[in-house]
This record gives sequence, structure tokens and C-alpha cells, in this order.
Amino acid sequence: MVERISRNIDRIRQVVSALGAARGKDRQEITILAVTKGRTVEQIKEVIAQGIADIGENRVQEALVKYNALPHPPRPALSSFKEPSDDRKGGVKWHMIGHLQTNKVKEAVRIFDLIQSVDSLRLARAISKEAGKINKQQDILLEVQTSPEKSKFGLKPQEIPEVFKEISSLSYLEVKGLMTIAPFTDNPETSRPYFKILRELSEKIDWRQETGDRRPIVSMGMSGDFAVAIEEGANMIRLGRAIFSHS
Ligand SMILES: *Cc1c(COP(=O)(O)O)cnc(C)c1O
Repeated sequence: MVERISRNIDRIRQVVSALGAARGKDRQEITILAVTKGRTVEQIKEVIAQGIADIGENRVQEALVKYNALPHPPRPALSSFKEPSDDRKGGVKWHMIGHLQTNKVKEAVRIFDLIQSVDSLRLARAISKEAGKINKQQDILLEVQTSPEKSKFGLKPQEIPEVFKEISSLSYLEVKGLMTIAPFTDNPETSRPYFKILRELSEKIDWRQETGDRRPIVSMGMSGDFAVAIEEGANMIRLGRAIFSHS
């Protein structure tokens, strides 16, 4: 088991390095997020032991159980909490990547370093409100529905410039980038146009206020299509099966 995970991660890193190099990027510039829904705490420990520092979960309740079972650095005192979470030293970063309901926001804000699935102004406002209560600066991504699939969550690409302006003005939020989920497919090429939409959208936004000198996060690509996502400009890929399954 341990060997499989480490072998899988080695192989993924080789692919990511090669693809990143072709685009003039270091491997470190492309974050590999381990998606651990349905996986055990032991499995999460194994990926952390392999140097993976970013963990993604789809449900708040499941994430809470795992978060509490794993060592994590104490949160800074509330009065000093208002600092970018990626400046916190030590420990892994927790990412919320599933649809977030407003009644789970309070708990989400307590454990997640980055909430990637912000898909409405209403949700953004709720997050800012809860973050304000604990004086936390909550990093988020805007989830964009780049494909016409009706069942998916996300903001429409054409809404983004306006919504970005509104959301980035909320006091306790920092919009760090964009995220999308391409429809499931056996053919990764099918995802390419959706990834392209997200990257082009990310280039249209003036991020300076939110990200300082850093580039925005462009979170796209899963086990089946991460190579195409990197080719289209992803700097964060979200991998479940590629890390944990037989291949
Ligand atoms: C499950 C999930 C992933 C990972 O999917 P795999 O195909 O297992 O790599 C990535 N992103 C989101 C939002 C997910 O729900």
C-alpha cells in the first residue's frame, strides 16, 4: 500500500516535471493536491510522508474527523489570525473542494486554509462573515462552471469579472484564484476547451489587490486529465485515483 502510493506519486511527479519544464515552470510551481475523500487517515499520513503538503476534501464533516485525527500546528491566537494562511509554517494545508452549504460554513472556516468551491456571492458573504468572527483572513478560489453541464456548481464565466469585484471587496476574504471541474470523461482532450476558458479568464482579472506579487492559483485537472490541464496553464492539480489506485 505504502509502496503503491509512493510509486504513484513518483510517477506523477515525473510527468508534472516534464510538462512543467516544457512550459518553463519548476515542479514546485505546480502544486499537487491529494484528494482524500473516502481515504483513511493512514492513507493521508502516507501521502504526507511523501512530501505532499496539500490535502483536499469534499465534505466538511469527513474533513473535520480527519483534521482532528492528524497533528496540525496550533492556530495562531485569534487576535493575530488575520494573516495569509500560506505564510503559516509547518503542517499541511487543507482545501475544501466540494460544494459547500451555508450551514457548514462556520466549521469550514475553522479548518480549511483554502476554500476552492466558492460558487455564489451568497456563499462568499457567509464565509466572510464567519471568518470575521474569528478574525481570520480566509483564502478562497472562485469555482467556475466552464462546461455547459447543468448538474455542475459554479459561477458562469461571464459573471466572473463582476462577481470578482464584489467578492474581493468583502473584508475577510482573499480571492487567490480560480478553480474548475471538467465533466468526467475517458478522453482528456475533451477537457481542454474548459481548461482553456479558465486560464483565459484568470488572465483577464487584475489580481494585484488580492494576491500581491503572486500569480493567481489556477486549480484544474484531475487524475484523468491533469496533463492536459498543465498544458493549458494549471498550477494546481487535484489528484485522487492517480495517487491511491492501482495503475
Ligand atoms: C474527487 C475529486 C477530484 C479527484 O478526482 P480523481 O479523478 O480521483 O483524481 C478532484 N477534484 C474534485 C473537485 C473532486 O471532487
